[in-house]
Amino acid sequence: MRFLQLLTISCLLLLLIVKPISAKFYTNVSSIPPLHFLNATRSAWETFEKLTGCHVGEKIDGLSKLKQYFHRFGYITTTTAGDNFTDDFDDVLQSAINTYQKNFNLKVTGNLDASTLRQIVKPRCGNPDMIDGTSEMNAGKKLRTTERYSFFPGKPRWPSRKRDLTYAFVPQNNLTDEVKRVFARAFTRWSEVTPLNFTRSESILRADIVIGFFAGEHGDGEPFDGAMGTLAHASSPPTGMFHLDGDEDWLISEGEISRGILPVTSVVDLESVAVHEIGHLLGLGHSSVENAIMYPAIAGGDRKVELAKDDIEGIQHLYGGNPNGDGGSQASRRSETSGGAESGVDSIRRWDGLAISLSSIATCLLLSCLIELL
Ligand SMILES: [Zn+2]
Ligand SMILES: [Zn+2]
Repeated sequence: MRFLQLLTISCLLLLLIVKPISAKFYTNVSSIPPLHFLNATRSAWETFEKLTGCHVGEKIDGLSKLKQYFHRFGYITTTTAGDNFTDDFDDVLQSAINTYQKNFNLKVTGNLDASTLRQIVKPRCGNPDMIDGTSEMNAGKKLRTTERYSFFPGKPRWPSRKRDLTYAFVPQNNLTDEVKRVFARAFTRWSEVTPLNFTRSESILRADIVIGFFAGEHGDGEPFDGAMGTLAHASSPPTGMFHLDGDEDWLISEGEISRGILPVTSVVDLESVAVHEIGHLLGLGHSSVENAIMYPAIAGGDRKVELAKDDIEGIQHLYGGNPNGDGGSQASRRSETSGGAESGVDSIRRWDGLAISLSSIATCLLLSCLIELL
């Protein structure tokens, strides 16, 4: 057993050595090199765009890769499709497209129309939208249901004795204080509307939440995919794993940016992604409300850091409001003016989100121990 542990540690050490992150952090829009604007359409999934117009009965190169995409985010299960995905546009693929279109508020056609593929190639959170074929986004809703926020299966949350949470950064990333302040701002968005407090710790062993940038395979069975594609993923409470793709380039500007100022680019707004992933760390799943923080996708160049009404009602369902604040009504009013969807707090729902296997948790714990020792 000890030998296996040492072997695992050695392998992880090797991973850390051979896969340094290439992430760059830009402090403002004007510092982004022109190449990043030229590469705006570059994506891990850009080859999907050539599949526009495909329909049932066709066999086209690339459809197997698209099926893997749907499998990754929970729309195709191996029980319905097996492990070998073919290039056939079959009923399984059509059903996945239907569900995806419902979840992302697209016209439900079951075909690979241009608007569906435009949505598919957008960078997004690596957490799945469904598990075991169950969706808690739009596709899993009953008629007349207005709630959109969702939770992980079993509705896990931090226990009531734990209202002061700590977070720490993986030391190997050597993040600057400026980058760390982006995460502090993101945590504050959630502490403003809940009884939770977040404090930075220097010890990743003692911290409740560990934040790290990793490139490619990094020991939890959810490898990152290079620039764009998946941007980050996070675990449900109380695991506290927050991983970001070390191959992305990030904007760490504090100022508000409108799309008019920041055109489409392959540089991703770090605070927007951090606020979303912290929502997962606290127990929220994905939402179909497009202006909600918990909506799964964000385009390069977009900035979305304000909690929407849907996010606030979801998180307050788990923890209640901030006893020292206005309970989020201020943030809620801000989101209402920007089109937040109506949502109730009484329904109990579950979200089939990121399933962290015992082995991956053990691997990450080992990784944490190792980094602490180094
Ligand atoms: Zn997510
Ligand atoms: Zn990970």
